[in-house]
Amino acid sequence: MNKLPIIENCDSCGACCQLTPVPPFQPGEDIMKDVPDELMQPSRDRVAADQHFDRLACVWYDPELAQCRHYDLRPDACRKFEINSDLCHGARWDVGVDL
Ligand code: SF4
Ligand code: SF4
Repeated sequence: MNKLPIIENCDSCGACCQLTPVPPFQPGEDIMKDVPDELMQPSRDRVAADQHFDRLACVWYDPELAQCRHYDLRPDACRKFEINSDLCHGARWDVGVDL
């Protein structure tokens, strides 16, 4: 895989969110973070539809703004996802984000 440019921030990208169909909370993490139940319903719907491993954008992702709609409530896995890491480059490559 070719290396992509080092970038300063995630503005206008969102590639990792486009490959994560539901917010990747650990069991009980949403409760610990006081995530309102209605914000978890889209995830439950996706699981019920057996789409939680499909190549779909996250139910919390806003494609127009290329941002998480509930950024302050995002899971730890999203907080730890490092910009310019191999996983970041893999996501950008996979989605074809031209950054
Ligand atoms: S793929 Fe990388 S640059 Fe794009 S939003 Fe995720 S962490 Fe940021
Ligand atoms: S940052 Fe938000 S939109 Fe992106 S994967 Fe995490 S919860 Fe979903």
